[in-house]
Amino acid sequence: MRDATDAGLTAPALRGGPRKGLCTDCGVSRMADPRACGRACQFIRPDYAGAEARVHGRTARTEGDEAFFGVTQAMLRLRLTPPAAGAQWTGITTALAARLLETGAVDAVLCVAPDPADRWKPMPVIVTDPARMAEARGMRMGFAPTVALVEPARAAGHRRIAFVGIPCQVHALRALEARLGFERIVVIGTPCSDNTTTENFHRFLAAVDPRPEGISYFEFRADYRCEIRYDDGRPARTVPFLRLPLSKLPADFFPMTCRTCVDYTNRLADITVGYMGGDGDQWVIVRNPAGAGVLALLDGRVASAPLSDRGRRRGAVRGFIANTARAAGGLPLRAMPDWARPLAAWLQPRIGPRGLEFARARVEMKAAETVLHLRRALPRRMKAMIPPHVWRLVAPYGLRPGPGEGGEG
Ligand SMILES: Cc1cc2nc3c(=O)[nH]c(=O)nc-3n(C[C@H](O)[C@H](O)[C@H](O)COP(=O)(O)OP(=O)(O)OC[C@H]3O[C@@H](n4cnc5c(N)ncnc54)[C@H](O)[C@@H]3O)c2cc1C
Ligand code: SF4
Ligand code: SF4
Repeated sequence: MRDATDAGLTAPALRGGPRKGLCTDCGVSRMADPRACGRACQFIRPDYAGAEARVHGRTARTEGDEAFFGVTQAMLRLRLTPPAAGAQWTGITTALAARLLETGAVDAVLCVAPDPADRWKPMPVIVTDPARMAEARGMRMGFAPTVALVEPARAAGHRRIAFVGIPCQVHALRALEARLGFERIVVIGTPCSDNTTTENFHRFLAAVDPRPEGISYFEFRADYRCEIRYDDGRPARTVPFLRLPLSKLPADFFPMTCRTCVDYTNRLADITVGYMGGDGDQWVIVRNPAGAGVLALLDGRVASAPLSDRGRRRGAVRGFIANTARAAGGLPLRAMPDWARPLAAWLQPRIGPRGLEFARARVEMKAAETVLHLRRALPRRMKAMIPPHVWRLVAPYGLRPGPGEGGEG
């Protein structure tokens, strides 16, 4: 990457730090008025229904796929053609942001690029040159105070901005949007789950690979395998989820924020770009007319395929909930015997849910984790923190609000 202060891509110094307790350092606590966290935070008193009505003009339906994925104008399976080098999937996210800059629809994009000192650490950047969006490609593991960039962006005179971010950042941005004084904010969101600190992620890479410094790419794929690529000459490889050394990780490897997160699919973005429901391609949820306008900028550069929807998720989700309940109750996880792992790893992609059913399963699993971990660790937060859409997702599995746990609406 070129110097981060070159024209076209800047990494402004951001003061302060995260708040104590549940905080993913989204950036609000580093702004001129850190008290805004009280209004903005996903972990304090999120109001998804109110925000959906403001952003999309209506709340999500409680039946059908909107109950899982949020307000949807169109759902698509796409790939950028040709795929962009260095992208996490095919590069639709950064290509959309680059097109917004190229066409003059926005003056600046707020997103993250790799920190020059550590490629896995996300560094908040303001991009004004579309060619430099390429440097933001790829996923970093860790928390980045990207929302705080709104202040230097405004000070630099930008009036129309795009924001690329994960759900907890987007919740905060939407809560503050009306007071920020921009003419236009376009939000390109990605789904997010199981984030952790960059330091923890380095520990994970060291457990997965004897020479982790050569790893240039890591992803959990929708075919139940994770893919590892190297830039030290070794060929790429895939490892079934079940063979990952997850049980060897310390109990606090995934922070409480990400175990109690209430939005997997970035419900408040104008457009969500992920992979979960894409069955090997990318999975795109256009949520409103602004999102449709952004996607139209890639006309002729994306190939589409019909969404797939196979298998049954209920058994897998039930098993996951039973395991999580055991772990959340402090009991050891029932580890699968070593001899059974190769068999289960072989079976999973063949009989497990695929396409949209895989995405529904993951969304239900994450919702159940939220309820179980909050119930164990922070029961008094449940009433304010768990939105009705999460309770609806877990109800079929017998998880219902107890006294004082909320759930109305
Ligand atoms: C921690 C994490 C967990 C994720 N989990 C899932 C998941 O479970 N299911 C799913 O479908 N998708 C998930 N995603 C999104 C997925 O990894 C891809 O980013 C997405 O599919 C877009 O791919 P792309 O090729 O279009 O992105 P690219 O064009 O390569 O662009 C990637 C974009 O992601 C942004 N980004 C990278 N790292 C971070 C970060 N740490 N914080 C905020 N923004 C970042 C960059 O600014 C860049 O704009 C996750 C992303 C993150 C950061
Ligand atoms: S709003 Fe952001 S900075 Fe403030 S507490 Fe929440 S996650 Fe942390
Ligand atoms: S899992 Fe949720 S809380 Fe954690 S980083 Fe992702 S969006 Fe934020």
